[in-house]
Amino acid sequence: MKESLVVLSDVTRDYGTGGAVTHALRGVSLEVGRGEFLAVAGPSGSGKTTLLNLVSGLDRPTAGSVVVDGRAVDRLDAAGAALLRRDRIGFVFQAYNLFPILTAAENAEYVLMLQGVPARERRDRVLPVLARVGLQGLADRFPGELSGGQQQRVAIARAIASEPALVLADEPTANLDSATSESLLELMAELNAERNVTFVFSTHDPRVMARARRLVVLRDGRIDQDGPPPAASAGHAA
Ligand code: ADP
Repeated sequence: MKESLVVLSDVTRDYGTGGAVTHALRGVSLEVGRGEFLAVAGPSGSGKTTLLNLVSGLDRPTAGSVVVDGRAVDRLDAAGAALLRRDRIGFVFQAYNLFPILTAAENAEYVLMLQGVPARERRDRVLPVLARVGLQGLADRFPGELSGGQQQRVAIARAIASEPALVLADEPTANLDSATSESLLELMAELNAERNVTFVFSTHDPRVMARARRLVVLRDGRIDQDGPPPAASAGHAA
């Protein structure tokens, strides 16, 4: 077994109190090794976002423990969790979440800026990353001047520019057409292979699930399936 990057042990997350408790996660145990390319699927309300929020320390479990890169996330205070996110985790969101008044390069530099990397070095680091994600020549465009697929490529550049151990992506292709989704997944898979960046992404889309190397399916806050995705055997023969 590869070295574990994320370890959830018997994690429960309840929302609400008294008679109105929602059991978002009901005893989830999951180990994600370094370098994995993992999709989390399941119907709406099954707990996907809750799981990602617990891994990033945006939320805390009601019971159980969450360890990321050797740190007990559930025991970090807010400042500690913010530092963990800044330094260890890249994020990609379904709505891209770029700053509209910053260029593609400035958006991609954002995490490096938070880390205090000087401006010249930031630019030197993000330009090759932008080129790698297929945005050569578009560094000075604003998000409003880019297509949805290109904006999500900027978001991926931002997520990986600081070389985090883990990239979390919540429904990264939800707003993209199927051809654009495919090419985005292809890019993520290539970055995973080239740079050993661990990707954990949630999705509803069976075609996106099929691109994962491991698929965890949640149902009613529990892990219902965990293994290679059904359609992956043919696709990954090469
Ligand atoms: P998914 O991402 O799979 O759609 P979520 O993790 O968002 O599922 O939600 C799991 C369950 O927890 C749902 O029933 C949802 O309504 C509930 N839930 C999520 N976040 C909150 C919250 N902040 N307050 C109350 N209930 C919540």
